Amino acid sequence: MNVLVVNAGSSSLKYQLFDTTRNVVLAKGLCDRIGLDGKITHKQLINGNTYEAEISMPNHAEATKLVVKCLLDDNYGCVKSMNEIEAVGHRIVHGGAYFSESVLLNDDVLAKLELCRDLAPLHTGAHIMGIQGCLEAMPGTPQVLVFDTAFHSTMPKPAYVYGIPYEMYEKYQVRRYGAHGTSHRYVAAECIKLLDKPVEETKVITCHLGNGSSISAVKGGKCIDTSMGFTPLAGVVMGTRCGDMDPAIVPFIMEKEGFTPDEMNAFMNKKCGLLGVSGVSSDCRDVNDAIDNGNERAKLAIDILAYQIKKYIGSYTAAMNGLDAIVFTAGIGENNDSLRADIMKDMEFFGIKFDEEANKNFKRGEVNLLSAPDSKVKVYMIPTNEELVIASDTEKLVSAL
Ligand code: ADP
Repeated sequence: MNVLVVNAGSSSLKYQLFDTTRNVVLAKGLCDRIGLDGKITHKQLINGNTYEAEISMPNHAEATKLVVKCLLDDNYGCVKSMNEIEAVGHRIVHGGAYFSESVLLNDDVLAKLELCRDLAPLHTGAHIMGIQGCLEAMPGTPQVLVFDTAFHSTMPKPAYVYGIPYEMYEKYQVRRYGAHGTSHRYVAAECIKLLDKPVEETKVITCHLGNGSSISAVKGGKCIDTSMGFTPLAGVVMGTRCGDMDPAIVPFIMEKEGFTPDEMNAFMNKKCGLLGVSGVSSDCRDVNDAIDNGNERAKLAIDILAYQIKKYIGSYTAAMNGLDAIVFTAGIGENNDSLRADIMKDMEFFGIKFDEEANKNFKRGEVNLLSAPDSKVKVYMIPTNEELVIASDTEKLVSAL
């Protein structure tokens, strides 16, 4: 089945056309600056033809029409008619407490998605525009929503209810939801295939480390805890996000700096993390370069990150009463071997024998075993593939129609 995977942002729309039967990507691209001047970059993956153009895209519907046009084009397209695009799968960041698995789009689903707007205003608004864009440009093509929060819906209550009056949870749904669930789900499943155990007995910690980072505890194939919380601001320090801190710091800084709630929120999301501590950049590569040039604050930023991840590994091992494997994935987790080595230092107590050489000589884009063959706990780098999960969930739901 040919499935168009769509990841709609507020002013962008990323897409991939998957052939799920052959498990290959036929084309992919990005519509950027939607609502402004507009730019499309499209790449056909069969013969490698690319197309780049600056075309005005006033909204997501026009952007989707342009995507369809590219996919049908004689030179850089990959299908002959619209009928060959059999389904659309959307990446949705927040499904609130309404969605615990992927679903086929209908009016009721769209109404529930509207109710998630409060929880992730920028993302949800963009997703709805992307969905409406596809409904307009491809009427009649079935659409499926795949939620980043769904994988975390198996968390038990003590892992997701906060220590505040219970009415806050009942009235406003203030609870831990987590994020990056599609990535955690994919790498956990790939890791479990490599473990010599029945799924029900496996205990895995997945570390999705990118611009945004989160760690999950996956017991018996199901998520039992995750580091992101009510919003993706919680957990470990990130590119520009502060991660966990004493909540009393929030009113303290607001008062000292004269911030409004919106300004404080923007401060915690955009000025903190690696950027705030290092004063150099939010990008891990720049921070690493600064460390090489002797910048101590850059070193501190990375030391904080490595230390926090190590603590999550410790606490999740306790929560699961054991550990079979740790997985590193996403931009930093897949590429930054020095951070992986920092995290894995002095972890022998847990039964981890980290293989420094394998870590240094890892192969990009492939599954790498980073622990010694006799290590009780395995350490893997597994490249994530959220689009593949979205395409296969979409295929499953649409095939059953
Ligand atoms: P997002 O959360 O936006 O999807 P990514 O998963 O693409 O982010 O991760 C972006 C992060 O990955 C950046 O901090 C970047 O520096 C880091 N990264 C990418 N490639 C490398 C590399 N070769 N070495 C170190 N860090 C890298």
